[in-house]
Amino acid sequence: MTWWRTEPTNGSADDVADALAQPTALVLRATIMGQLRLESQRKSPNETGGVLVGYVDENGRTVVTAVVGPGPNAVHSRSRFRRDGDYAQAEVDRLYHASKGRDDYVGEWHSHPDAGGPSFIDRGSMSWISNNPSYGRPEPVLIIMERVREPEWCPRAYRWVGRRLVEVGASVTVTGC
Ligand SMILES: [Zn+2]
Repeated sequence: MTWWRTEPTNGSADDVADALAQPTALVLRATIMGQLRLESQRKSPNETGGVLVGYVDENGRTVVTAVVGPGPNAVHSRSRFRRDGDYAQAEVDRLYHASKGRDDYVGEWHSHPDAGGPSFIDRGSMSWISNNPSYGRPEPVLIIMERVREPEWCPRAYRWVGRRLVEVGASVTVTGC
């Protein structure tokens, strides 16, 4: 499972100790997590998703600053999702310019309304992205929103490293939003 360290933390002492033992690979604001839950719930029981925009900080952590939704021409079904590529590209470009070149594509997100971890197809698409120079992200991140029970969504964070998808520690910041 992904350890979501909340800053400031409000879990039990054991939760905090376990979370601190995991290096934080991904950081996002609580408002962004709220957006992911809202979008996932809105399209449920079909899948939805989009791309993650942000930057890599001096510690190598991926900081997600914006979520791009599926777009008007996305394909949603119970077990498949294909985002609207033109929409994603236009939104990434817009966010890149709005941040004066700091924020760019960092990875993908999508929902699994029937729960379950990354599929064979998910691994294949992350591998393809990591090898595609136009993305400029050899180690893209992936957030999967798993519906554990209605209407609860469990976020899990991954990163494509080398030749495989590894689950990573993540942190939600509630300050500065
Ligand atoms: Zn999937």
